[in-house]
Amino acid sequence: MTLKVAARLALDFLLPVRCLSCDRRVSSEHGLCASCWQKMPFYEKPWCYRLGTPFSYDMGAEVWSPRAIASPPEFGRLRSVAAFEGPARDLVHGLKFGGRRDLAGPMGSWMARAGQELLTGESLIVPVPLHWSRLIARRFNQSADLARAVAGAGGGRFEPMLLRRSRRTRRQVGLSSADRRKNVRTAFTVSDDRLADLQGRHVILIDDVITTGSTVTACCRTLLGAGAESVDVLTFAHADVAGEASPSGGKTSLS
Ligand SMILES: [Zn+2]
Repeated sequence: MTLKVAARLALDFLLPVRCLSCDRRVSSEHGLCASCWQKMPFYEKPWCYRLGTPFSYDMGAEVWSPRAIASPPEFGRLRSVAAFEGPARDLVHGLKFGGRRDLAGPMGSWMARAGQELLTGESLIVPVPLHWSRLIARRFNQSADLARAVAGAGGGRFEPMLLRRSRRTRRQVGLSSADRRKNVRTAFTVSDDRLADLQGRHVILIDDVITTGSTVTACCRTLLGAGAESVDVLTFAHADVAGEASPSGGKTSLS
């Protein structure tokens, strides 16, 4: 046994490595156990060029889903690691409500991988901001933790203070799509002293989960209106609102 292996075994004994989702002991660091890995609803190619939602079969490069065609998003492209269910949902909740800030590193690495087509190295990595009063209550912004991890793993400049939430909004949970849009329409601003840094730049907006897209759409409008060249969105999870993601078009959730 080499010294390195012996040290590793000693460390495993002192600090047992746990599955990030279910806390079961696992052999690899920063990972999931076999059972959670199998249940993790990863998004994989082929996917919609605009919304990053998977297709059941390959229709060629840069193909848009019927939903993206029916209602093109204001952002350029959206990429997400997984659907918002099973272990993906547990991880989002663990980070946001369970205070598991240690999850942000591995979740951010997965996001950097899912969003590698978006990351240019020159991009500004901007988290969806919390209002300061909510930040005080929760003590951290999970999207900022994820954005820092994405920039660390995939490149780009972490910009936690560029976009601000100037108005406290009601929680989006339980609101209709129209009310969600109204709720966040004028909630965001770009700090005056950061306007110059934004001109002509590519922004990657980071959030833990996208639901109807009203929050990122409001952020996107603010950033484009303030001089950003383009905005893409990278989230850990994508909650496809039931019935709104049907291939036949249906209602559009990402407007
Ligand atoms: Zn597990």
